[in-house]
Amino acid sequence: MDSFSETDLEDKILDAIKSMGFEKPTPIQAKAIPHLLASDRDMIASAQTGTGKTAAFGLPSIQLTNIEDKSTQTLVLCPTRELCLQITKDITNYSKNIKGLSTVAVYGGASIEPQMKALKRGAQIVVATPGRAKDLIRRKKLLLGNVVRVVLDEADEMLSMGFKEDLDAILSETQKKKQTLLFSATMSKEILTITKKYMQDPIEISAARVNQGADNVKHFYYMVQAKDRYELLKRIADINPNIYGIVFCRTRRETKEIANKLMQDSYNADALHGDLSQAQRDEVMGRFRKRQLQILVATDVAARGLDVNDLTHIINFNLPDDSEIYIHRSGRTGRAGKSGISIAIVHTRETRKIKEIEKKSGIVFSKASVPSGKDICTKQLYALIDKIEKVKVDEIQIEPFLPTIYEKLDWLSREELIKHFVSAEFNRFLSYYKYSRDINVSENQKGESGKRGEKRRREDKGKASHSRLFINVGSKNNLNPARLIGLINEGLDSGDADIGKIDIMKTFSFFEIEDASEAQLIKALKGQTFEGVSLVIEPSKEKPASGSFSKGKSSKRRDHSKKKEGRWGDKNRRHENRGRRNRKS
Ligand code: AMP
Repeated sequence: MDSFSETDLEDKILDAIKSMGFEKPTPIQAKAIPHLLASDRDMIASAQTGTGKTAAFGLPSIQLTNIEDKSTQTLVLCPTRELCLQITKDITNYSKNIKGLSTVAVYGGASIEPQMKALKRGAQIVVATPGRAKDLIRRKKLLLGNVVRVVLDEADEMLSMGFKEDLDAILSETQKKKQTLLFSATMSKEILTITKKYMQDPIEISAARVNQGADNVKHFYYMVQAKDRYELLKRIADINPNIYGIVFCRTRRETKEIANKLMQDSYNADALHGDLSQAQRDEVMGRFRKRQLQILVATDVAARGLDVNDLTHIINFNLPDDSEIYIHRSGRTGRAGKSGISIAIVHTRETRKIKEIEKKSGIVFSKASVPSGKDICTKQLYALIDKIEKVKVDEIQIEPFLPTIYEKLDWLSREELIKHFVSAEFNRFLSYYKYSRDINVSENQKGESGKRGEKRRREDKGKASHSRLFINVGSKNNLNPARLIGLINEGLDSGDADIGKIDIMKTFSFFEIEDASEAQLIKALKGQTFEGVSLVIEPSKEKPASGSFSKGKSSKRRDHSKKKEGRWGDKNRRHENRGRRNRKS
C-alpha cells in the first residue's frame, strides 16, 4: 500500500497524519488499518516499538468512535506511565481535527484526583496502566460497560511486570462482545495463554521486523571474562570515535554504574533508567536525540519510549535471557536503510545463548576480536589526523593571533611541530593503552566459569543491599506476591528493580526492595489505594535477611504466586532462588 488514501480513513484523520509527515503506511499499518475498519474480529500483532503500531490501532479506533456518546469505547492498556503518555499524545494528535473526541491517560504513581475529573468529563478513548485502571474501576470512575475495543499494548511487558491478575480483573469488567487487539514484541507461552483465554479466532499479523537478519545489521560477539566487560566497552567506544549508540544493561543499578564510570572516564555518555523522574528522562532522551550524547546506557524498559533512527551501535553489556529481546534491541540500529552494528559482550558460559539466538532468529553472529591498544591508538590517531586535515580554517578569526603563535613555535621544525600537536591531543590514549592487556577469551578457555567465577558472582550479588518495607495490605485484601510485584513495578514505572523476600500476612505484608528504589517507591505508593485500602508503606523495623533477592520479573513471579502465604526465607526456597539467579547471570 503506497498511500493512506487507499484506506477508508476519513479526510480529517488523513489531514492530521499528513500534517505530521506520515506519507505512507508502515507495513503493520497497511495490514491492521483495513482489517480494523472493516471487521470486528480479534487481532494479534507481533510488533515492536518503532513499527508504527500506535497509529495502527489508534487511527481505526478514532474513526470508529461514536462522538455523540461520551462513554468509554476504547480501552488501551499498556505497561508504563511513559508509554501511556506517549500513546495518549499520539492519539490526541491523530484526532486533532475531530471535535468532541477525548482521549485520557490514567496511570499509577501520580495523583488520582485529576484523572478522575478527566474521566468524569468523558473520555471515549482511555489509555491506562493496569493497576491504576483497576483502582479506578473499583472506585466506579472508569466504567467499561460500553467498551467495544480493548487494546493490550506491549502485552509481553505487561505480563513480565506482574500485571496478569490486574488484566484478568479489568477484562472481566468488559462486555463479552468486543474486539480485542493484542500487540507484543515477543510471543511467549504466557502471551499465548492470554490470547487463548481472551481472544476468539484472532487474525494474526506481524510487522516484518525490518531489521531481522537484514543485511544492514551486522551482529558481532566479543568473548571476555566478566570482570573485563567494562574495559571492552571502553575499547569498543574508543575504536569507534563516531559511535552513536545504546548500551543495554540488565538492572538499573548496573545502568547507573556503567554510565557513571563512562562519564568519569570522559566519555560522552549518560544513563536512562526507571529511577529518573519523567523530566530527567525527557532531558536525557532529548540530548541523545539531538546527538549531544553519543552513548546512552539504558535498561530495556526505559529505552522503550525512545525512537531514534540512525544509531550506529547497539551494545548488549549483558545478553538478555530471552532471545527475542536481543532481536528487539538490535532492531534499533540499521533502520531506514542505514547500516548498523549489534554487539553482544559474552563470557565463556554464554556461547549457548549466542547459538540459541542464531537458531531462533536466523541471525548469524561473527566472533570479533577485542581491539588491542595498538589498534585503538592507530584508529584514533588517524581519526585525529583526518580531522586536522579537514577542519575548516577561519582565516579572519585566527589572523590576529597568528604572528605571536608563529613566533612562539618558530624553534620547532615541521616534523617536530606535527609531533607536538598530535601528542597534545593524543597522549591520553597513548598512555592509557601503553601497557594494555589482551582480554580476549577463547571458547575453550575456562574463563570465570569455575570456582573463581562462582566466588566473584557471589561477591557481586552480595553487593546489592535491600530495605525491608511494611505495607498495610495482605491476603485479606487479595494481595499475593504477583500483585505486590505489579504494584511495585507500577509505582516505580519499571520492571527492573531488585525485589527480595516477600511475606504476605493476612492484613499486612513485608517485602524487600533494593535500597536505591526505596524512597521512590514509598513516595509513589503513599496515599494510593489498593482494593479500597489507602496504602501505608514504611520501612520495617526488622532487618532484611541477606542473600535472597531477585529482579522483579516473571520467572520469579511464578514461584512467588505458588506460595500463597508465608516466608520465602526457608532454606529450600532461598536455595532455589539463588540457583535461578545464577543461571541468569
Ligand atoms: P510507534 O511504533 O507507534 O511507537 O511509532 C514509531 C514512530 O513512527 C513514531 O514517532 C510515529 O510518529 C512514527 N510513525 C508512525 N507511523 C508512521 C508513518 N506511517 N510514517 C512515518 N512515521 C510514522
